Amino acid sequence: MMYRKSNILSLFVLSVFLAAGSFAQRELGAKPTKTGGPLVFEQAAFDVESYELSFNVIPDQKKLEGHAVMTAKIVIPTNVIILDLDTPYKVLRVSDGSKSLQYEREESRIKIFFPQTKQVGEKIKTSVWYEGVPRIAPNPPWVGGFMWTKTPSGADWISIAMQNDGADLLFPVKDHPSDKPDKVTMDITVPDPLFAVGPGKLEKTRQNANNTTTFTWRMTHPIPNYSILFDAAPYRVIKDSVKSITGEMIPIEFYILPESFENGQKLIDETKKYNAFYEKYLGPFPFRSQKLGIVETPHLGMEHSTHLAYGNKFRYNEDGYDWLQLHEFGHEWWANLVTATDWRDFWIHEGFQSYMDSLYLEHLGKKDKYMEAMRRTASRTRNKQPVAPREQKFSYEVYLAGPDFVSSDGDIYGKGAVILHTLRYLIGDDAFFRSLRRMAYPTKEMETYTDGRQTRLVNTDDLLNIAETESGMKLDWFFELYLRQPELPKLVSNINGGQIELHWDTPNNMPFPMPIDIVVGNGKPIRFSANNQKQTYIVSCSECPPISIDPNGWVLKSH
Ligand SMILES: [Zn+2]
Repeated sequence: MMYRKSNILSLFVLSVFLAAGSFAQRELGAKPTKTGGPLVFEQAAFDVESYELSFNVIPDQKKLEGHAVMTAKIVIPTNVIILDLDTPYKVLRVSDGSKSLQYEREESRIKIFFPQTKQVGEKIKTSVWYEGVPRIAPNPPWVGGFMWTKTPSGADWISIAMQNDGADLLFPVKDHPSDKPDKVTMDITVPDPLFAVGPGKLEKTRQNANNTTTFTWRMTHPIPNYSILFDAAPYRVIKDSVKSITGEMIPIEFYILPESFENGQKLIDETKKYNAFYEKYLGPFPFRSQKLGIVETPHLGMEHSTHLAYGNKFRYNEDGYDWLQLHEFGHEWWANLVTATDWRDFWIHEGFQSYMDSLYLEHLGKKDKYMEAMRRTASRTRNKQPVAPREQKFSYEVYLAGPDFVSSDGDIYGKGAVILHTLRYLIGDDAFFRSLRRMAYPTKEMETYTDGRQTRLVNTDDLLNIAETESGMKLDWFFELYLRQPELPKLVSNINGGQIELHWDTPNNMPFPMPIDIVVGNGKPIRFSANNQKQTYIVSCSECPPISIDPNGWVLKSH
């Protein structure tokens, strides 16, 4: 998901969208519902294996009829489990696939009771029939729900966004990032001539007697819950392919509105360039046995695994690329291949991706623009809450800020990216880029997997351990200061002629042996080992040239 800039900018974005006639009802102050957070016992007790979902979509009533079958394995003995399902839905029946099961509907939860306690390792199956008028997205994609909108030609254009709210906006789910199903099958029935697009591969389509068609999509890789959704419109499809660094061909499918068709191939060609960039730094496109999928959406965009939501209207920036597509596509690595176990580590998605967004400039041979982007981002950090808190969090608690959680925090994006930039300076390019690659694929062997075993769940300590191994340096002090508490270190410097005194002033005097560049005149940067104690560096000069500290902006510090 791209960063939701301040409300002022949202107003500007809104005016663009209004001009483009996509949305009328955007509520800028809307707050997401809860997703993730502390894991309750009745959800920790089972490990989801698959969801088989059937949706009957009724646009003229803005209604959904659903049937959701979950299979899971018991990991803690229990006779009760809980699934999350948004309040607008009425539960009609619950069974174990054959016999009815007792259940209680509590707000946005379904408590399901089994006649006996299920033992560790036992498989369970729940089948839930439900229907309702889904929540309308007040400010998509940031505050989610359904979008029942129209294409420029007036046809139905149905879309869903639910990262900050949870997949319970669409179906009964164990709504926690720590549990990705290994497989998902989705039967989506929509009125003709709509085409419904989902994750994975299109297995079949069935023409029904009542002028509807059922599209069956099947994803055979672990997938984050918020990517388990569909978009529908009178889509046309552009098919292409690109060779991966593994030598395998990656199938590309772009589901695009007829009105945008002539713009499609250029975005695909651009995406091939982005793929080459990501594969160079992070290893092969992870879902090459499924598809590199793009779907044109009425909202700005989202990293829906193997069916990326694209709503940037084919705009290219001054450097000739589409920042939104570059960003969302990169999340196939940082979010879908490597997924945060809890929203407290959300920065692993957005901070890593924001770093790649700027690194792309260096990849284009514009290192100065990369450095400029890092300096600009560093000057905008909020430093109000830790980028990676240790306690479990609902996603909006990390994504949004302030007592009312309405305005964006954004530090998981920008500050996260600059922390990686500073880590690069500290440990050096070789160790840093090896660490990025190993964070994406811990072993070379995993780069060869195409059955889902290449995906994994991580937290911030995974990066700490990898970077320490790759650099041979102790780095816990760096992670403690930059990620586990909000304040920035302050560099206290005193330059008197050729005498330079430097030390780091840190919250609670946290240890911070962070080197910093000193540049004398136009000389080469001198790496000075500053720390919490005052250190002096002498430049032997009578007419001393100007002396600057970290002029390139490698080290994130209070501004
Ligand atoms: Zn993002």
